[in-house]
Order: sequence, then structure tokens, then C-alpha cells
Amino acid sequence: MNAPLPLRVARGADANAYDRVAHATQSELAGRLAQRLASETKGEVLFSAADRGRYATDASIYQVMPVGVFVPRTSDEARAALDICRDLKVPVVARGAGTSQCGQTVGAGLVIDFSKHVRALLEFDSANATAVVEPGIVLDHLNAQLKKSGLWYPVDVSTSAQATLGGMAGNNSCGSRSIAYGNMVHNVLAIEAWTSDGAHHRFESYERCAGGAREIGRRVKDLASLLAPEIDRRWPKVMRRVGGYNLDIFRNQSERPYTGDGGVNLAHLLVGSEGTLALTKNLTLALAPLARAKVLGVVNFPTFYKAMDTAQHIVALGAEDRSLTAVELVDRTMIELALRNPAFESTVRASLIGRPDALLLVEFSGDDRRSLARKLQQLEELMGDRGLPGSVVHLVDDASQKNLWEVRKAGLNIMMSLRGDGKPVSFIEDCAVPLQHLAEYTDALTQVFRRHGTRGTWYAHASVGTLHVRPILDMRKDGARKMRAIAEEASALVRKYKGAYSGEHGDGLCRGEWIAWQFGPKITQAFAEIKKLFDPEGLLAPQRIVEPPRMDDTRLMRFAPSYRVIPLAPALDWSEWDVQNDPATERTTPPGTGGDAAQGFAKAVEMCNNNGHCRKFDAGTMCPSFRVTRDERHVTRGRANTLRLALSGQLGPDGLASDAVREALDLCVSCKGCKRDCPTGVDMARMKVEFLHHDRRKNGFTLRDRLIGQLPAYAATASRFAWLLNLRNRSRLVARMTQALTGLAASRSLPAWRRQHFFNRPLRSATRDEVFAAEKPAVLFVDTFNGFFESETAWAAFRVLRAAGYTVHVAAKDDETSGHLCCGRTYLATGMVEKARARASGLVNALHPFARRGIAIVGLEPSCLLTLRDEALALGLGSNAQEVAKHALLFEEFLAREAAAGRLAPLQARLAPVGAPVLVHGHCHQKAFGAVSPVLDVLKLIPGLQPQLVESSCCGMAGAFGYEASHVEVSMAMAQLSLFPALRAQRGAIVVADGTSCRHQIRDGLGREAVHAAVLLAGQLKGG
Ligand SMILES: Cc1cc2nc3c(=O)[nH]c(=O)nc-3n(C[C@H](O)[C@H](O)[C@H](O)COP(=O)(O)OP(=O)(O)OC[C@H]3O[C@@H](n4cnc5c(N)ncnc54)[C@H](O)[C@@H]3O)c2cc1C
Ligand code: SF4
Ligand code: SF4
Repeated sequence: MNAPLPLRVARGADANAYDRVAHATQSELAGRLAQRLASETKGEVLFSAADRGRYATDASIYQVMPVGVFVPRTSDEARAALDICRDLKVPVVARGAGTSQCGQTVGAGLVIDFSKHVRALLEFDSANATAVVEPGIVLDHLNAQLKKSGLWYPVDVSTSAQATLGGMAGNNSCGSRSIAYGNMVHNVLAIEAWTSDGAHHRFESYERCAGGAREIGRRVKDLASLLAPEIDRRWPKVMRRVGGYNLDIFRNQSERPYTGDGGVNLAHLLVGSEGTLALTKNLTLALAPLARAKVLGVVNFPTFYKAMDTAQHIVALGAEDRSLTAVELVDRTMIELALRNPAFESTVRASLIGRPDALLLVEFSGDDRRSLARKLQQLEELMGDRGLPGSVVHLVDDASQKNLWEVRKAGLNIMMSLRGDGKPVSFIEDCAVPLQHLAEYTDALTQVFRRHGTRGTWYAHASVGTLHVRPILDMRKDGARKMRAIAEEASALVRKYKGAYSGEHGDGLCRGEWIAWQFGPKITQAFAEIKKLFDPEGLLAPQRIVEPPRMDDTRLMRFAPSYRVIPLAPALDWSEWDVQNDPATERTTPPGTGGDAAQGFAKAVEMCNNNGHCRKFDAGTMCPSFRVTRDERHVTRGRANTLRLALSGQLGPDGLASDAVREALDLCVSCKGCKRDCPTGVDMARMKVEFLHHDRRKNGFTLRDRLIGQLPAYAATASRFAWLLNLRNRSRLVARMTQALTGLAASRSLPAWRRQHFFNRPLRSATRDEVFAAEKPAVLFVDTFNGFFESETAWAAFRVLRAAGYTVHVAAKDDETSGHLCCGRTYLATGMVEKARARASGLVNALHPFARRGIAIVGLEPSCLLTLRDEALALGLGSNAQEVAKHALLFEEFLAREAAAGRLAPLQARLAPVGAPVLVHGHCHQKAFGAVSPVLDVLKLIPGLQPQLVESSCCGMAGAFGYEASHVEVSMAMAQLSLFPALRAQRGAIVVADGTSCRHQIRDGLGREAVHAAVLLAGQLKGG
């Protein structure tokens, strides 16, 4: 094995930090910086190439290696880091979740990550509706804490699940409902911050400001007075203008003044300053009451142009009573894409009248639904007056509104899942124009795209004239050139219609150079003077807003034309990612033709566009390890970035099989949460298999790998020595010895061996011929775990299927010998891909004759059965594997399907009620394949039962992960996040968990016996 990574510097005094960092980075300065951070703070000091690489990108197209990364434990440590950087003249780049689209958090200095620890809600004043927060707090987390009070922070950005308040203030972010609530600048009351000289200031109402803050304010005021005519002439008059500094606090130019009383608030100078003026210590926020009722009118338009032309009239509907809270666009392409997605299809269809070219989602909010219904009526009348009678679908119940908002929010994500090197690129995606010009502007820009051989899909904030659009460009080829050409034409349109070039996402590296274009030389010079007032040495985020680089400087880009992937022969089939696309039609070439030197693996990794959605903590699985560690290294994005850097040789010659990759993937529990929840479908679980294959080929298998991987091969023999092997669970000494030898944690019980198990206690299984001839046939695939360790589950499933009237054949090897079948899961989990292929191939061959006849293959253990629908298809097993996958169903999926077809009456008649509430914990792979709801459906066959789903991420056991001594702590922490608290809250409930490892985790952690749904059903069968 390779030596441990040298450049995660230990916390506290570290005498060798300098030598190690200076040597490895070849930078004496980096060494001194790391040394001082390590000795003067307790924060995390990250200087390895992988750590720096993970912080070298955000949700933009750029990549710049920082000199190092610092993760402070407290805000004061951030100040200490600033002091050190000032001494050493190292620039500082502040960072929240890193979801900026323009490269705001990408820079060559020290990146300070506020999101991990500096994230407290410091004060909450419900009477005055204000809150004081640290900059690293995430918007959704803040709003969750405020919910009970009936208040919220209303700048509802799409990235609310991960965006931090510090980052939102940095970018002057705006949400879908900005027409009602304004941007960040309208909702920040005060900011405490350090200027680069280390001085602490409180920026608030100008009247109240004192000391240095007041002095800065006075000088900015002078600048504003001096430039008054220029400001009046050049400043965009739209509400959505976020470019440059807010010099207009002293001379309002916005459609919506920044303060309610017309006064000046100096905190607003910092809002939108992108970390270039000061480091935020905390922010005082203005909260708003949560709306009691909302209604949504979905207006169907025959043409896109008509939709754009009508937006201004719809907005006027809310002018009187401020009840209009959103007008959002969904265009034809988005409608089509959503209709193709099973999760969204019915929601979208219910909102359509005929075949519209565009939809406007018009939301009204207020105190009661009845008065809002009148607003919908007015909307209906307005559309009638404008020649579109009967074009509005009314959505008044909360669920249908929420579902449609989900479709709108998923819009960008759906687009971003385009495979191939051409990607929708964000660089003019938020130009804002006055509403009366929206139709002409969008039409003209569409023509621009066409001229450049590309296209864009339009969506988002029609209410404020900020429509999002991303033309598809290939940054590895001519993307930078085309980007510049399109940007120039777009800017001419923005000027023609008197709009703002930067209307939502900030300037960063991408739009900085357009500041001078927008504001002219005098105001640009004033911005430079403001920068000097705050940061005379140019320490904070250099080259942002002032003296910016060219947007198309390819040296700053993640996929510059020089980007190369090291050739690699992958173990799995990644060819479906190895494609190219046509930007004008979005059609992709056949699999395997994309020219990827890693045969599709690199392109699959590169699907991660850094949007940071994997940093969310809400319902859903992704990403359990990040939820525990909050470490960029342990989030899907960090892992994908690590893989990309390794595959392209940016982490040194070891490529994929490097320590950095091993470290990044170590806590990945292969839950497949990302496969489902990541907008672009990054499937880290599958990528981990690929990594393990290459890593173990280079470094060899450990004893633990062999014990876990080859379990199916020795299980039958081992079960004969059950008593002896189970000594491990009875003797602490043996457990400790086993840990020393294998790394399997002594504190854990291991699954208990049994002499009598499913495979050596034969059942009356139907023969192949019987099942072929049966009216109601089913094939039961019993996996290693339920077969050898928890045979009750397999027996129970057999009984239930029989009670339901099925002729059940237990799948066995072709020759019907006693050997059990195996999907290869344990081999995949340990990187033994060849052996997994052989096992899965045996299973596919055995099952194919049944699948060919359309007979369902019914499995019990989600991770095993679903291997047939997932990894088995990437093992090169041909069309037989495809056919088997089509018929492979989990036990409950099969029963739910049969119940829906009216074939389960015999079973239902035999089920007795349960005397306790039932909680269901879904296995991660069940969640990834949308196979949890069938469990609930099937349990509802039990008379009177209303099973309750536990909103949980991964249980933390995740196959063998939680058994490993090095992972026990993280494994238990994952369970403590949501699963264990939910189970503890209902001590008397029966717990249903289909995953073997989930059941084991619940037993280990809570001492409670969870059961497979099959066991619960079998236990309720009347008449034995
Ligand atoms: C898919 C997608 C959808 C998006 N939707 C929206 C949207 O609806 N509305 C919108 O406005 N934006 C949107 N964005 C852009 C982005 O998510 C927002 O700007 C978000 O508010 C940034 O938050 P963050 O925590 O990621 O900040 P970061 O990207 O980490 O930082 C943003 C800026 O703040 C500065 N900063 C951070 N912390 C501090 C600090 N303590 N002191 C000083 N400066 C600091 C940084 O230096 C940087 O300049 C979207 C982005 C993506 C990828
Ligand atoms: S892994 Fe997926 S969710 Fe995470 S940043 Fe990348 S694309 Fe976004
Ligand atoms: S498989 Fe699970 S743990 Fe691994 S990156 Fe994806 S969501 Fe995170």
C-alpha cells in the first residue's frame, strides 16, 4: 500500500507542516502558510493536491488551483487565517457551498470554507422578525429552524438545500419569488465583517454606523455624489441587477429600493461583493411571515413569444395587493423532457391544455385561499381579454402545486443530464431585461444561438425579466470562442433593451469583464476605489469585480483544450457515456463513439457539473457520508472531482489507483443515493467498483476483502462449522483477534452461521417444467444472506407466494444441483470484478429460460436482486442479462404488480390484522430504484394496516461497510441521523426492513429485531 497522504495537516501545533507542504507543493510560501495555520488555529489545514483540486472548482466552467484550503472551527479562526494571509501576502477566497455559477469561489489563494462549522443561528427575534446567522448556515436549515415561528427567510434560491447565507449575500442571490420579496440586498439588515486589515466592522444603517464603517460609507457616498449623472445614465433600472458593487445605495436605481424607508444601509455594499470587500462574520436578516395559502394558475400558451409578451400583463395583476409571488416559465423542450420522465409525467399532463408551446406558472399567496381563488379568476379573465380564453389550469391544493414546482426546479437538472462533451453552459443565463422587451429579447437571442449552431432551453423567472438559458457548447473544442461571440451578441441585445447583463448569478470570472461594458469607465473606476477603501492590498478574491480576467481565458477552465484523460481499460462497461452530441439537436452518437480514452468511465465521471446538490440534507439518500462528516472529500461532488483529477493525471502518476482516490471513496457506502438523486445521474457506487478493481489489481486484496468477497463461495462449507465460527460472537477475545487479523470490528456482532439453512433444508420447490406450465408461475431467487443466515425470510417468502396461489420454483444452478446462485454483489463490493462476472453470468444463465417465458424472477435482498437490474448490465453479459433484468422484481414489487392486476384476492383473504403500528425503513438500493412504495402497498394488504415510511437516508451498515473497525463510528453516526431517532420515537412499532444489513444495524444499535416484509406477511397468514 502507498504511504498515507502527507498534506492533511494535523490540527494544532504541527512542527513539520512547513517541510511537508513546502516539499510536496514545491512552494515555500505554501509551507509557511500551512505551518502557521496548523500552529495558530485548530481548523483543518488542507494542502494535498486532491484537497486543493476539490476546492479548485464550483458550479462554473472554471478551475484554478488554490494554494491551500482552510476549514475554520469558529468564525474567529477565519479571522486568524485572514491575519496570517495578510502577513504572508496570500490572497483569500471565501467559500460557502461553492455553488456559484460564474467562478466566484475559484481562486489561487487560500480558500476558507465556512460551510462546515461556522453555521449557527446566533439570535432569533420573533417579535421583530429578525435573525442573526453565521455565514455558513444553509438556507433550508435556517428555515427549518424558523418554521415553528411562522416566519421564514424568503430569498428562495433553487439551491436552497445547500446554498449558505454567506454565499447568498456574496452573490446577492435571488429566488423564484423575488417579485414579492426582493433579492438578498432587500433582506439583509446588517453584516459584521472583517476588512483585509483585520479590523472588525458592523455595517448597517448608515445613520447608525460608526468608526471605520462610517468612514468607508462617507467616502463611498462622496463617490456616488460625484458620479450622480453617470449613475443615472448608465445604471440598469431593473430589479435584477447584481453586477458590480451596489454604489446605488446612495442613489437608488432599482425598481425596488433596497430599504423600506428610503434610507441607506452600508451592509448593502457588501451584498453582491463576492468576497472582495470583507470576510463576513455574521448577518442580520429580515424575516417574512410564511404565507398561509397559495394558489397556482398554469397558463398554457400556443407560442413562446405570446408567453413572453404576456408576462408584463400578468405581473400587473399583483401590483395592487402584492399577492403575486411568482411567474415562472416552462418552455416546450422542458415540457417534453418532463413528459418523458415517469416521475413528472402525470403532474405535467394535468397542467396541460392541448399542446402548448410554453407555460407560465403564476402563483398568488395570501391569508386565505378564497380570496386567492378570485385572483385566479382575474388571471382567467385577463387571458380571455388577450385572446386566450380557457387557457388556465387552476391548482389550488398544496400537493399538486408542490409537484409542479418540483418539475420547474428540476428543469435545469433535466437539461444538464445531456451526455457527450457538449454541455449547456452558464454565462449569459441570467441577463435581465424590462418585461415589455422580454419577447423580443428572447426571440433575438434564440436567433443568435441558431447562428452559432447551438440552441438553448428557456426557463425560470419571467416575473422579473430574468429568463435562464444555457446554449450547448463543447468547451474542449471551440466552446470558449463561441461563448465569447454569443456573449458579445447577447450584450448588444441587453444594451438595446436597457437591461442588466448580470441579473442573478453574479460576476465571478465569467462576467467581471462585462462590468466596464455595463457601467462605463467612470463607475468602473469608482468600483476600483471602493475596493481600495476596503482592501487596499488586494488580498480578498483578487480579479473579481475589479481587474477581472477575460471570460474566455482557457487557462482558467476545467475542460481547457489541453485537458487529457489517461488511457484506461475499465472493468465495467461505461460505453453508454462514451458518446458525443449535436448541440443543435441534442442527438447523441452511438455508445462507444465518444472518443474517451477511458472508454466512457471518464465521461461518466465528468457528468458531475459541481452544482452541489449532493450537499443537501433533506429527504432522500444522497449523500450519507457527507451528512456525517460535512467534508467536501466525502460528498459525491468531491469524489467525482477527485476521480476526474486522477483520471486526467492531475493527482500524479498513480491515476485511479492513488491514495487520494482511495481516501475520497473510503466512506462511500455505495448506497446509490447519487444514482437516483444526482441531477446528472453520477453513480458513485458503480464508480467505486471500478476504482476497487484498479486499486486491488495494483495493491492486492486484503484478507478482509477475501473474507467478504468470497463469502458465497465458502458459505456452504462454513455453515457446517456454525458452532465453531459463532464463537467469534460469543468470545470478546476471539472477536479482538479477528479484528486484528481482518479489520472486522470486535464491537460488532457478525451474522450468525447456522447448520440448518434454506439451502440444506429442501422445500417442495416446483420443477422447471411445472413452473413453465403453471397458470400463476414465479421463480424465487434466494441470495446468500437470506439463504444461509436469515433463512426465515426465504421460507416466509415461499409460504406467502404459495398462499397467494403461485407455483414457485426456487432458482438453482442449471443442473439443479444443491449449489446456490449468487449475483456477485460481494465480489463487486471488494473489486473482484472478474469473479463477480462469473457469478452473475451463472445466475443470468440459470434465470434466462424463465425470463424468456415472461416469468417473474422474485428476489428478497434488495442489493442482490437489484444487481440484476444494475451492475449485471455493465458486466458484458449480453442480451440475456437484459432480458433477465426486465423480469427481475423484488418480492414486494412482484406482489404489488399482481395485486394491481387483481390476482392477490386469495392472499388478502388469508391475512390477519397486525396488533401494532408498522414502520418501514427502505434499503438504499430500493430507494434508488423507486422500489419502496411497493413495500407500503403490499403491507396495506394486511387488513387495517397503515404502514409508515421512515424518512431516512442510509442505515450506515451498507453491506460490509459498518462491520469494518475503521468505519464503525461513521456507520453508527449515519444511523443516528434519522433512522434511529425515528425508531426510538415509536418503541412499540414493528420495524420492516428488507435489507439484511439494515436489520443487523437496527439490532446492533437499538437491540430491536426488524423483519423483512415477507416475514411479517407470512406471520399474518391465517390457517398456517
Ligand atoms: C443548479 C443551480 C441553481 C441555482 N439557482 C439559483 C437561484 O435560484 N438564484 C440565485 O440567486 N442563484 C442560484 N444559483 C447560484 C448559487 O447557487 C447561489 O448564488 C448561492 O446563493 C450561492 O451560495 P453558496 O453557499 O454556494 O456560495 P458560494 O458559491 O460558496 O459563494 C458565493 C460568493 O460568496 C462569497 N462568500 C461566501 N462566504 C463568504 C463569507 N463568509 N464572507 C465573504 N464572502 C463570502 C464567496 O467568495 C463567493 O463570492 C444556482 C446555482 C446552481 C448550480
Ligand atoms: S455529483 Fe451530482 S449532485 Fe453532486 S455536484 Fe456533481 S452533478 Fe451535482
Ligand atoms: S453512493 Fe451513496 S455514499 Fe457513495 S457518493 Fe453516492 S450517495 Fe454518497
